[in-house]
Amino acid sequence: MYNLKDMTLEEMENFFINMGESKFRARQIYKWIYDKKVTDFEKMTDISKNLRAKLKEIAYISQLKIAERRVSQIDDTIKYLFLLEDNNIIEGVAIRYRFGNTACVSTQVGCNMKCKFCASAVGGKVRDLKASEMVNQVMAIDSDYGKISNIVLMGSGEPFDNYDEVMKFIKILNNPYGLGIGSRHITISTVGIVPKIYKFADEKLQVNLSISLHAPNNELRSELMPINRAYPLEELMKACEYYIEKTRRRITFEYSLIDGVNDKKEHAYQLVELLKGMLCHVNLIPINYVKEIGFKKAKNEKVMMFKRIIEDAGITCTVRRELGSDIEAACGQLRRKYLKER
Ligand code: SF4
Repeated sequence: MYNLKDMTLEEMENFFINMGESKFRARQIYKWIYDKKVTDFEKMTDISKNLRAKLKEIAYISQLKIAERRVSQIDDTIKYLFLLEDNNIIEGVAIRYRFGNTACVSTQVGCNMKCKFCASAVGGKVRDLKASEMVNQVMAIDSDYGKISNIVLMGSGEPFDNYDEVMKFIKILNNPYGLGIGSRHITISTVGIVPKIYKFADEKLQVNLSISLHAPNNELRSELMPINRAYPLEELMKACEYYIEKTRRRITFEYSLIDGVNDKKEHAYQLVELLKGMLCHVNLIPINYVKEIGFKKAKNEKVMMFKRIIEDAGITCTVRRELGSDIEAACGQLRRKYLKER
């Protein structure tokens, strides 16, 4: 059976051409799926009875079930656990910002990147998500939480370890007949899989790129993020320069501040040295406490010291608001809790 939500508009046009139908059917079906949110072919009244019957035999339109929904009492964040067709569980988060609602989506079930501070790394990767499963997270959040205008690929999984499906997902998001979310409203976050950064730069999309940096030198970064052993900072920075040159877009570097680990003055100066002259922005993140890992978030005065040193060097810097700390909103936390209790 074909899942129509796994098809870009172009792929769906070819699908109908191969069925001996007009390619215009693809736009009609896209409208039913993404605009009217219809999943039953019988309700698609501008499609002939014959074609509806044919479609029912060979295709379907998938949906996601919400297995659990946790509403933060502190802010307006909601964390979702979604049940996939094969009974796997993934997480998504809805966040309310002044500029609109953001959906944070997962790209894999679990993750293989083994970042030391992350709950999704515990247990490893189970499988990649299909484009439809990413689209469905957005649609489920949109109908539960309210209109979603921004997407961040910062849930469980490494987007560039599932490159092709993620690119397909972006095409479906972008398409005006699809979800109609512009590239500039989408952010991909990667640990730094260098060959994929080059490939992504060559796509020349206007999608925002965010690098999970979290350490300013190779020794510490390799300890926190094993990917750094394959692609050390020198190579990562070269790939970032290439991305900026190709797209003329600013890169955001995410830096989670962990108490006593990467929050010293010398780390802030090393970070400045690494990034100076680059078209970039630094986002400091007070890390969410993950019991299994034992890291604690840096003290407020350390966060402020870090911010000052970075800004004094002429690099823009923000501190991410701590969201949903009462609902295990950090990536992978709620899924792990649910799997243990299941
Ligand atoms: S931080 Fe992201 S890339 Fe690293 S293990 Fe967690 S989900 Fe994977």
